[in-house]
Amino acid sequence: MSIDRCDIAVVGAGAAGLFAAVWAGRTLQKRGLSGRVIAFDGARKLGAKILVAGGGRCNVTHHVVDEQAYAGSSRNAIRQVLRRFDVAATVRFFSELDVELKREETGKLFPTTDDAHTVLNALLRAAREAGTELRHPWRVREVRHVGQDSHRFEVVGEPGASSDHPDDRVIRARMVILATGGMALPRTGSDGAGYGFARALGHSTTPRIVPALVPLLLGDGGVFIKDLSGLTLPATIELWSSTGRKLQSFTNSTLCTHFGLSGPSVLDMSRYWLEAHHQDPGATLTMNWLPGKTVEGLDQLLSSPASGTTVGRALAGHAPERLARAVCAKVGVEFAQTLAQLKREHRKAIATMLARCPLNVTGDRGFTFAEVTAGGVPLSELHLGSMESRVCPGLYLCGEICDVDGRIGGFNFQWAWASGFLAGQGAAAALAEGDTATKPSRDQPD
Ligand SMILES: Cc1cc2nc3c(=O)[nH]c(=O)nc-3n(C[C@H](O)[C@H](O)[C@H](O)COP(=O)(O)OP(=O)(O)OC[C@H]3O[C@@H](n4cnc5c(N)ncnc54)[C@H](O)[C@@H]3O)c2cc1C
Repeated sequence: MSIDRCDIAVVGAGAAGLFAAVWAGRTLQKRGLSGRVIAFDGARKLGAKILVAGGGRCNVTHHVVDEQAYAGSSRNAIRQVLRRFDVAATVRFFSELDVELKREETGKLFPTTDDAHTVLNALLRAAREAGTELRHPWRVREVRHVGQDSHRFEVVGEPGASSDHPDDRVIRARMVILATGGMALPRTGSDGAGYGFARALGHSTTPRIVPALVPLLLGDGGVFIKDLSGLTLPATIELWSSTGRKLQSFTNSTLCTHFGLSGPSVLDMSRYWLEAHHQDPGATLTMNWLPGKTVEGLDQLLSSPASGTTVGRALAGHAPERLARAVCAKVGVEFAQTLAQLKREHRKAIATMLARCPLNVTGDRGFTFAEVTAGGVPLSELHLGSMESRVCPGLYLCGEICDVDGRIGGFNFQWAWASGFLAGQGAAAALAEGDTATKPSRDQPD
């Protein structure tokens, strides 16, 4: 067995790992140092998640990013990382690589090519230009701390047959950057192995690691919604505690499907729902299919004195006909029934189904269909100026392995860019200073 050596081993070459590798390489170059940076990835093809992101267009970031768009670790800690590499820095970084970003009405930023390959190719080129070696398929099995000499880590791997270095199974490294992602879309190579590496090196992970930005499944009570499969409309999804307190609310495009609900509003709500339901099994979700309208307002609309008007006509212009028909069928009212014939309890039932429709959520579609992971290594265990571990000097963490998850809209990549930048720069700066135990003075309390 041969043992190779490097200065910085980046484990995982997704968005955060590639970014960390670029900035580690650039920082060493800037300081005139010839350190060796190797990024390892188990995937045969790099960047699968970047390529599927944003429907193949890659929503690189959002026009306005702040900590309010994230959950997991404390918002103050998240802010400290985000502000060190902001949206303007992301736009500049890609522009310098000839990738121009355009802002859409929603505030999301995409490459002007509308093609995620542009983003991935630029990152791979930047990594090469920064002198980084990319090794794949090279699946890491173990990361161990082997003593106090300069190369204090061993990265033990399983190079694929097509790897450029099929015989190198153990790499000694001075520093390790863990960028193995979470567990969302595991077929891309992110299967949660990194949590085990972090734990073996002394870190904790949150008690719960669950899918986020994940579609929700509806039980039998949601049949009328499943029958609307394919219908997309703006709607407000609301989360209520068992005591009736509104905990969270998202208004955005909502998609009815054969299994339940999806679309940005539902994906954004999913992590809050899973968390609330775990802590308070009596927590509930409701949908307002007509954002801005209330049960009382709709009740009034349906009590219109124009008694010749049918229910269908009264709702036209307010609700899509398919939805209005389905709600009428659900409460047992003819669409063509006149308002004069409408019983009070039916009027109330229609208004409730439209403005505060109870959702019988039975679960979520799991990591296979999730876009990100909620949970991971708490930021309180890292120095936020560099993403260096507080428990294992020389170890750095970035990206989705951290207990940070963002909303739909480019926020998760912005987290990967910001934390990857800090980890890469931090590891290289510590290498340059020759002292991995020295903590950056700019670090602030969480
Ligand atoms: C379908 C989909 C669409 C998305 N769209 C967007 C979007 O448009 N905008 C946005 O902001 N976010 C989007 N996201 C979320 C975003 O892709 C992630 O938040 C981001 O990719 C996380 O980056 P990461 O580098 O931390 O992890 P990952 O991208 O998951 O990368 C981790 C890498 O580590 C490698 N790895 C893992 N374990 C090992 C191991 N043991 N050995 C070697 N290599 C290993 C994996 O192969 C992988 O390449 C989307 C996610 C999905 C699933």
